Amino acid sequence: MRLMFLTPAARQERSTFTLVALASLWLATVGNLALWRSLVNLPDVTGWHSWTFGAAFALIIACVVAALLSLLAWRVTLKAAISLLLLLAAFATHYMWMYGIVVDTPMVVNVFQTDTREARDQLSLQLLGTVTGIAIIPMLWLWRQPVRAMAFGQQLWRNLGLCVAALLLAFGTLQLVFQDFASLMRNHTQLRYQINPLNSVYALLDLTVIPSDQAKGPLQSLGLDAQIAPRSSQHVQRPPLLVFVLGETARSQSFSLNGYERLTNPLLAQENIASFRNVASCGTSTAESVPCMFSHLGRTNFAKRQHEYENLLDVLQRAGYAVLWIDNQSGCKDQCDRIPNINTSDLKVPEHCVGDECRDTVMLTRIEAELAKLPTERRARGTVVVMHQMGSHGPAYFKRTPAEFKPFKPECTDTSLSQCDRAQVVNAYDNTIVFTDYFLSRVIGWLKTQDKTSTPAMLYVSDHGESLGEKNMYLHGLPYSVAPAEQKTVPLITWLSPSFEQLTHISTRCLQVNRDKALSHDNLFHSVLGLMAVKTTVYQRELDFFAACEGH
Ligand SMILES: [Zn+2]
Repeated sequence: MRLMFLTPAARQERSTFTLVALASLWLATVGNLALWRSLVNLPDVTGWHSWTFGAAFALIIACVVAALLSLLAWRVTLKAAISLLLLLAAFATHYMWMYGIVVDTPMVVNVFQTDTREARDQLSLQLLGTVTGIAIIPMLWLWRQPVRAMAFGQQLWRNLGLCVAALLLAFGTLQLVFQDFASLMRNHTQLRYQINPLNSVYALLDLTVIPSDQAKGPLQSLGLDAQIAPRSSQHVQRPPLLVFVLGETARSQSFSLNGYERLTNPLLAQENIASFRNVASCGTSTAESVPCMFSHLGRTNFAKRQHEYENLLDVLQRAGYAVLWIDNQSGCKDQCDRIPNINTSDLKVPEHCVGDECRDTVMLTRIEAELAKLPTERRARGTVVVMHQMGSHGPAYFKRTPAEFKPFKPECTDTSLSQCDRAQVVNAYDNTIVFTDYFLSRVIGWLKTQDKTSTPAMLYVSDHGESLGEKNMYLHGLPYSVAPAEQKTVPLITWLSPSFEQLTHISTRCLQVNRDKALSHDNLFHSVLGLMAVKTTVYQRELDFFAACEGH
């Protein structure tokens, strides 16, 4: 008789909805203890406000997990799916809690490459305890629950409905806390890899079904026929010297040169420059834009490329020029792998560096010494220097500018943008543009001093823009198709010395006339080759925006 009470039929049947809801809530709370500990320990997460934010964050996680489980919410698959997520979350929690690791794709690759001896070394009582508490106990309960049977069609509609409802709830909640959420994720990138079990699921999908954008076989050579074409100018014999300033997070809208009502470019406005107002970036993040800017492929073809190719700098070097990359940021994203390069961001030059960061002007303190190290025979033909700025890198804009370059006050001095008024965020950002204006005018000033030995010019382009609260969006990095213009419209400024204009027959006046022409990062590769008179079959004259101004 007693056995009869224990048969599943005698128990209360659970609907798939109940099990999905319970599992999602369990995973979002207990399954994310390591994430919640990290959040509590963050200096910028304090006060009652952070409790409501934490609750919203947990609800978003629960909803996304529920949406994921709803796809597998069938009587035969649901328990296995929940069990898998519980186990993933439990193992991840243990390693995150004990070792402070995060679960990203390389970490999962490491796990798969761990041999049995290493795995045995890692087995411990704590691991057993964590896995039991987070996964085994709920699994014991779960597998004893009878699941209510339902007709196929009815179950399908229920699952679809659950999936849509969960995603809508997640999206709605995200809208309520978007500013905090975006700030947090940008300030603490590692947090996204601490969200259990979505981190493990994503890494597993990344390894299996998501097409890889990593190394695509051996590097393909480019412009093997590249040569410097003889210049027709009889008057200028000095070699060209081009400084290509690679900007960071500068948006076109915040440049007074491009119509912004605040005076953010007081110094450049006094120079003989051309500023293009309608330039589209290749991506909305540094990692996406920078490799694309130096590529011959252009945005569309770059995204679907089958191979990695050499870039603009390789072609310039192959043609015979001296090429140098000076980086004042996190690195050149593989663009300077085959050319001389230095990083100035960790120099401790007192006038230019504060803590572990240097102002962009530090690059000018090193340029002459670094140029002197380049081969003399190359420098006799001409030189191209890339200066990679720290620029307007956010969200801590206020850290990018020294006190004497803060005309717009008060500025937001919190790394979490949500703690500030929008006006303060804009002030801090605009100050970074004022400093970039100063830096570019200093570059031009230095180039003018080189006019006796070379024929100088400058080209400045930013990698992507930035949202500063428009449509309640901040920072950058949204998928290109949905990103607003603020994240995709970048400044592009040229300065040609009179001797450079003579050498190339390109006039700044003509460039100024064309300032509203629709350009993009796609034009850069060909325009720089054109400007430097490099003859090669990969050069496409129709993409060279200087070509239209030759002889004008
Ligand atoms: Zn960037």
